[in-house]
Amino acid sequence: MSNRAKAEPQQEAQPRKTYLFRLYPTRKQITTLEQWLSLCCQLYNAALDERKSAYRMVGASLSYEHQCAELPGCKQVRPDLREVPSQVLQDAVKRVDLAFDHFFRRVKLGQKPGYPRFKSRFRYDSMTFKQYQNSFDVIPGNKKNKGKLVLAKLGHVKMVLHRPVKGTPKTAIVKRTPTGKWFVSISVETTEEEVTGRHLPVSTEAVGIDVGLKSFAYLSTGEEIANPRFFRREEAALARASRRLSRAPKGSKQRAHKREVVARVHERIANRRNNFIEQEVCKLIKRFGFLAVEALVVRNMVKNPRLAKSIADASWSMFFARLLDKAEEAGRDVVRVNPAYTSQTCSACGHHQPMPLSVRIYECPHCGLLLHRDHNGSKNILAEALQAVGRHSRVIPEAPAL
Ligand SMILES: [Zn+2]
Repeated sequence: MSNRAKAEPQQEAQPRKTYLFRLYPTRKQITTLEQWLSLCCQLYNAALDERKSAYRMVGASLSYEHQCAELPGCKQVRPDLREVPSQVLQDAVKRVDLAFDHFFRRVKLGQKPGYPRFKSRFRYDSMTFKQYQNSFDVIPGNKKNKGKLVLAKLGHVKMVLHRPVKGTPKTAIVKRTPTGKWFVSISVETTEEEVTGRHLPVSTEAVGIDVGLKSFAYLSTGEEIANPRFFRREEAALARASRRLSRAPKGSKQRAHKREVVARVHERIANRRNNFIEQEVCKLIKRFGFLAVEALVVRNMVKNPRLAKSIADASWSMFFARLLDKAEEAGRDVVRVNPAYTSQTCSACGHHQPMPLSVRIYECPHCGLLLHRDHNGSKNILAEALQAVGRHSRVIPEAPAL
């Protein structure tokens, strides 16, 4: 039943898990990695250009295989490409292929996607190593160090393996952040047993979760997850840094520096937000066996511009995504319900009434219910989810025997 949450578009592949570790390459290794990134970026753009022209000139679309077959020829012309592991180069070509796949899929769906674009060397910030124990390897830590990542043609890179990798690694993506930190994300195929092995003790407690305007979320148990204070503070810091960036003259040294500051703030926000979400999701998953959430969060935040809007917005979608992932891992049920009317309906008697955003308390003229707006919403979300799976939420007292 836990699959209900991710019903349609997921292909049923082996379950995967991704580990993220910090890398500490030496200065020399960084130079090499940067050079590889730059070459991959050039190759990506060249492959994209080739596809575009082939299409424009003769209306033909080139395949990934076709473009890969050209790589040896490219290496003749550009010997520096030989210094990059072949698989990494192939992956750059693969990315072009994926970009086109994605583009055509969206065209088919009747959407208007942007045509695949060239990437700048700033945006092209990762490389994929595909064969475990061939193009990359993971060496666990010992008394002297905290682990190593071995990369083909580069050697041992210092890595902080803060937890053991369970299962067989499939790919390793080496990534540079805009502030110049390096990470590797190692994706691992896990077996069903390993997945079930992570299941938590059974919980029969159910909860409805309503994301709020004032607070981060409201639970049907009446508890509230408050917005962390840093939301507002970081929002201000980001606004300040962006303002300074926009004031700096284009092309100046000052501007480059300000850009770095903005990137650092973004990174800090992302880290703090991830921590916050991870903690809250963990608490919820541990405690509840059945979690009901809204299917979509489209909130009209315009009325409250002073709320740390962008941070909170991004946090909600991440919160839901993380909740679904974690729930699946832990064997918990997540049911998503249609968010329409969850705030207008009285959770006690089912009465409907308009509820403008400014109204914080649900006051039912029918049954006299008096409840915080989001608390009422979360109760409705839970009720609807329970109904969707055929469990009754409202306890109907049995008729006394005659
Ligand atoms: Zn009522």
